Amino acid sequence: MGMDNRHHKSHSEFNVYTQMKPVAGPLKIRRSSKAKRLRLAVKPGLIELVIPRGTGEAQAMAFLDQHRAWAEGKLLELNDRASRIPAPGSFASSPTLPWRGREVPLIIREAPGLRTRVSVEGAIHIALPQGLGETRDEVALRAFYVWVRRWLRTHVAAMVERLAPRTGLRPREIRIKRMKTRWGSCGPRNDINLNWLLALAPDSVLEYVVVHELCHISQRNHSPAFWLLVARHLPNYAEERRWLKLHGAELMRRFSL
Ligand SMILES: [Zn+2]
Repeated sequence: MGMDNRHHKSHSEFNVYTQMKPVAGPLKIRRSSKAKRLRLAVKPGLIELVIPRGTGEAQAMAFLDQHRAWAEGKLLELNDRASRIPAPGSFASSPTLPWRGREVPLIIREAPGLRTRVSVEGAIHIALPQGLGETRDEVALRAFYVWVRRWLRTHVAAMVERLAPRTGLRPREIRIKRMKTRWGSCGPRNDINLNWLLALAPDSVLEYVVVHELCHISQRNHSPAFWLLVARHLPNYAEERRWLKLHGAELMRRFSL
């Protein structure tokens, strides 16, 4: 009897597979004795069609057709989100991290009662309390972000002061932020916003973005006059732009938070 059931089940699954239109993404068909009604579940990388006992194939296929567009849209959305989130454990378990253009060791110390702390001296040291479990990676990355933001603000303020006698350009405020697609921006009131990940790029790349945004204080566009101004302060800026084109997206993907 058991054999017959199994055989019957796989046979009907086969029929559903061969008769339906292709779905964008892997489709799993599951017959369930517990399910009360036909259901489509979308998980990252997979659409699952749940067929309750007693439901015919024609009905199941009609249901699939009716909700196909929704399921495929949902799948794309989930896949897109998954590709932007680093794999769990990818931050705190990496042996090195980029810091000012170089890979430096990441040293994590965990002990009971330890307070979350970051310091950077040759290596990136992160102290964590023990027992963070699944949140360990996120806690470490956030602590790193907070530390970098403060470091970068001080560092860029000094850089702006150093450049000011030559450029004559001073922002009203320097803000370090998480930015998903940009490296910097200059607001209408001459506030400069910088992507925190610039601290992980080479110093020359950071300097280029700072000079770029400073130049927007006098030229609010990307006209030839703007690029001439950038070139006057940073003759080799094309090299730094190329670095961002080559490595920027990867940096943003690896450290999205
Ligand atoms: Zn610009």
